Amino acid sequence: MSGSHILVMNAGSSSIKTALFDADLNETLRVEATGIGGTGTVTTGDSRQPVALPDNAAALAAIFDTLSRQGIAVTALRAVAHRVVHGGTALIAPCRITPQIRQAIADCIPLAPLHNPHHLSAIDAVTALAPDLPQCASFDTAFHATIPDVARRYALPDRSDLAGLQRYGFHGTSYAALVRVLPRHIGTLPKRLLAFHLGNGASICAILDGQSVATTMGYSPLSGLTMGTRAGEIDAGAVLRLVRQLGLDEAETLLNHHSGLLGLSGISSDMRQLEKNDGPKAQFAIDHFCYWAARQAGSMIAAMGGLDAIAFTGGIGENSAQIRNAILDKLSWMGNFPSYTVKAQEEIQIAREASTVLNANQEDKDDA
Ligand code: ADP
Repeated sequence: MSGSHILVMNAGSSSIKTALFDADLNETLRVEATGIGGTGTVTTGDSRQPVALPDNAAALAAIFDTLSRQGIAVTALRAVAHRVVHGGTALIAPCRITPQIRQAIADCIPLAPLHNPHHLSAIDAVTALAPDLPQCASFDTAFHATIPDVARRYALPDRSDLAGLQRYGFHGTSYAALVRVLPRHIGTLPKRLLAFHLGNGASICAILDGQSVATTMGYSPLSGLTMGTRAGEIDAGAVLRLVRQLGLDEAETLLNHHSGLLGLSGISSDMRQLEKNDGPKAQFAIDHFCYWAARQAGSMIAAMGGLDAIAFTGGIGENSAQIRNAILDKLSWMGNFPSYTVKAQEEIQIAREASTVLNANQEDKDDA
């Protein structure tokens, strides 16, 4: 007899964040293991426990241990549902993780070397701890499978050794949740919706009739808007120079971790800290963020052939009226259009997707 709870899992380079959903898909608990690779911390509610967390397997054991102390044994789980950053061109819908799907996620490692290996190691750690527990995956890239070729292709030659070098787009789970939730708030889904997901990572998606037709992130989550620590859009020629000047590893670290709001301000990647700071560098970083958000929004609006409504989500999008207003102000040339703020709902979206996959699997079995 299987359990009823779904544990949504987001495994990164040094953390595993989980959210537990009951049979009615209400979130009941969050458990996070951070500082993996050393003396880590397991956080749940107000409790923060220091724990040695040498690797993902130890972090996962600590999370399962914490769950069990809260009365949720492994047998109470129906499934673990993983957020997987990259599904490439093959994995474009949520699915149950079979050995073939695990291999397909592994095949995407060259596309997402900073993310997919951590998802795989979490998947393997769950398999080792609870071999019979079903695992599902939702892919950040999947929502963008509807982007037309003209928007997807880079202007590179059609060579087999360059296969896979295309725009994928990310934050798909957040945009899928927005498309599901917005009609509940406003009664309808706007035909041409300009969606901003503004958090530490940030992107815009042009959503036409509920489907992604363009997005600002590309081959990797490094492209597009100015972000917390990522540079966003940058000329490939400048990247080539960085690689020549600094070497590959340092260039990669610079572009991913030392750029964006942090690089421009020299103060913080955190928008709240920058908003509190009156200094010119913090203000310039904020201006840069808003300018490029509005400017790339123009490109997204063109991809949809106009605009009917705007939605903001993500930590900055949900919480900072200053940033929303600055971006809206720069788009006021478009005339008047409604704008909405919606809480990012990635975890519940992943739990729902897993539940749908498992229900369909069950129906298949019942039909057999
Ligand atoms: P992630 O992309 O890591 O999930 P979040 O979506 O949580 O990140 O967004 C984090 C960002 O949201 C940080 O820059 C943080 O400063 C910003 N943020 C959160 N609350 C506020 C607020 N009240 N005002 C301005 N920025 C905020």
